[in-house]
Amino acid sequence: MIMVSVAFINPLSDDGKQIVREMGSLEGVSDINEELIDAVIQTKSQEISDDDVVPQTYFDFALRRIEWYIKKKNDKKFNYKKYTFLLNDNILKFDVIAFYLLCQAIAIKFGPNSRESRVMVESQGELIENRLGELSKADRKDLVTLMLNSLISYSSIKWTFFEDLLSSRKLNLQDLILDNGEIILDKEEFVERFSDRIEHRDPGKMFDLMIGDRIKELILIRMIMQNTENYMQTVHEKSGREIEPNPVLLELADKVSDVLSASAQSYGYGGSFASDTKASPLNPKAFPPCVKKVLEGMKSGGRNDAIILFLTPFISYARLYPSVFSENISKRVSDVDPNLAALQNEILPMIFGAADRCNPPLFEDQPQEKVNINAKMGFGMHETLELKDEGETIWYTPMSCEKVKIHLPSLCKPDADCKKIGNPLTYYNRKKRMVKKEESQNESPNES
Ligand code: SF4
Repeated sequence: MIMVSVAFINPLSDDGKQIVREMGSLEGVSDINEELIDAVIQTKSQEISDDDVVPQTYFDFALRRIEWYIKKKNDKKFNYKKYTFLLNDNILKFDVIAFYLLCQAIAIKFGPNSRESRVMVESQGELIENRLGELSKADRKDLVTLMLNSLISYSSIKWTFFEDLLSSRKLNLQDLILDNGEIILDKEEFVERFSDRIEHRDPGKMFDLMIGDRIKELILIRMIMQNTENYMQTVHEKSGREIEPNPVLLELADKVSDVLSASAQSYGYGGSFASDTKASPLNPKAFPPCVKKVLEGMKSGGRNDAIILFLTPFISYARLYPSVFSENISKRVSDVDPNLAALQNEILPMIFGAADRCNPPLFEDQPQEKVNINAKMGFGMHETLELKDEGETIWYTPMSCEKVKIHLPSLCKPDADCKKIGNPLTYYNRKKRMVKKEESQNESPNES
């Protein structure tokens, strides 16, 4: 028998819904709850050194859930022991209620396409992965199989069943094993279908090695993430028909937003480990020769690549996430520019200006290339740049000097500051510091 409740992994399961029904109403979600405090304190290895660490109310608990994900993702000094209770299934009831509170609050206030919504869905996926990681190998396998069987009722499914997951990029086709358009999740079925096509290898072992439990787990996690997103969509649609949203939920939504904004300040706009390369308005005086050349407008070959593959990643990272190479943590544009204000008002005008100065102007003969600019910043292949599409493509990091020299050799006319750097972005970060120092010395010559 598996020792952990299904609702601890999937709050949207029947068990999870039953917990919500028993709770009845939102009354008391902001009150101090001794049972909750006790469950947290009793968690093995849980740090309880200061009061802020222990959630006191359902409300606190919900915010800790989001905080855990944000800190785990961004903070190199993240202290796991402050959040150990999130992996303790004794907190099941509080966890399920917190999940519903968060989904409803975010869906009502911000809608399903918001950054808050995305963080909620991602944090649920991350929690499931971590909770499964706490189980023994056998329990983990049994639980995943049990849950998948309740979510999918047959072992080989047409891939179109996963359409939502595939189209929202929560699952990649290459993660799945397909045979005649059917996904194979069962070992026996895999052996039966593939044994005559596999030579010199044991098909059963191959299944374990290549697919086995990992894919099942991945599908389970992605399905629950997708269902969480769908649930928020439904709540959002229903809320449009209601007269007055519950003020408790609106308050929680605002607090979630505060947590995300604080994290953008700490980790996005120059956090503790990025103090020397904070995001700040662009300083064209610090641009390397290659960037200056593209900004003047490309007069001969390489126009499209120079604007789309070279300039777009450079300008967007230089403005929003200049420490990408030293931090080595992948981010989305909205992690550092939540309302896309810098993107719309500073980055795109600079890229479009350079595109207009080309001969011939880029969008005059190829207006469809705007889609590629959006795609390179992570917003998919769409004509308009919208938060809901973010994540469909990846935010391209700036090209290295080596690649510039190979693919766009006419751009590279190194100056003295190009020595010892490997990427135009590194050039920019260094030169920006130098320019700032020079400017402050010129402003107050007597102080130096
Ligand atoms: S060396 Fe690098 S930074 Fe300098 S011009 Fe060439 S590509 Fe640009």
